[in-house]
Amino acid sequence: MHAPSSGGARRREEATLAGEAPTFKSALDGYAELESEIRTMISGLFGEVCALCTSSCCTPDICEESEYSAFLRAVRVAHGKSSAFCDRFGWLTERGCGLTVGRPPVCYGFFCNEILDSMQERERIILRVLGRLLSWVGERAAGTRHLVEFGDDASLSEINASRLIERIGVARTALLGVKSAFNTERLSLEQQDAVRRVSPSAEFDA
Ligand code: SF4
Ligand code: SF4
Repeated sequence: MHAPSSGGARRREEATLAGEAPTFKSALDGYAELESEIRTMISGLFGEVCALCTSSCCTPDICEESEYSAFLRAVRVAHGKSSAFCDRFGWLTERGCGLTVGRPPVCYGFFCNEILDSMQERERIILRVLGRLLSWVGERAAGTRHLVEFGDDASLSEINASRLIERIGVARTALLGVKSAFNTERLSLEQQDAVRRVSPSAEFDA
């Protein structure tokens, strides 16, 4: 059984079935949608804790990766809202991160000890899969290079859009599996396969 698709994802699937070549724009749109879903989920889980945190883990040098990476810049320009970047605080504002999309993948993959210590081992394993999704999507975007390693706009043409779109699809299915697992619901076989691709060592029962 196929996982439910959002409107954008469904249009991309229909285009692929119709034989249209996957385009860089489709990959960009799909990445932005996926990032938004991941951001919404993480924010729902930890937004209140992070809002009260006095030792934010955000630093300007992490923020700068979103400026260096031509792909993340393109995601931000096409789909994002952002505050102004400042040398002292990067994208960080008094309301948290000022970037809606185009954040470095590491921003979704780090969870501090306060968060990890508040969870059971099973939840920590699920969280590791969630935190790895965006980083996994960007691996081997061209040869061995990660999406975030393309610095200038001209180099974006080297990105393998078909591969990226395929990975985004797998990550979306894995994200549904993560949501099911957090709700202690059984994962479909497709979701289990997707989770295994993203994180081969992750083992958690429904
Ligand atoms: S992840 Fe931890 S250190 Fe970072 S902002 Fe949230 S509570 Fe603070
Ligand atoms: S979450 Fe936002 S403010 Fe924090 S390090 Fe990442 S880009 Fe910077």
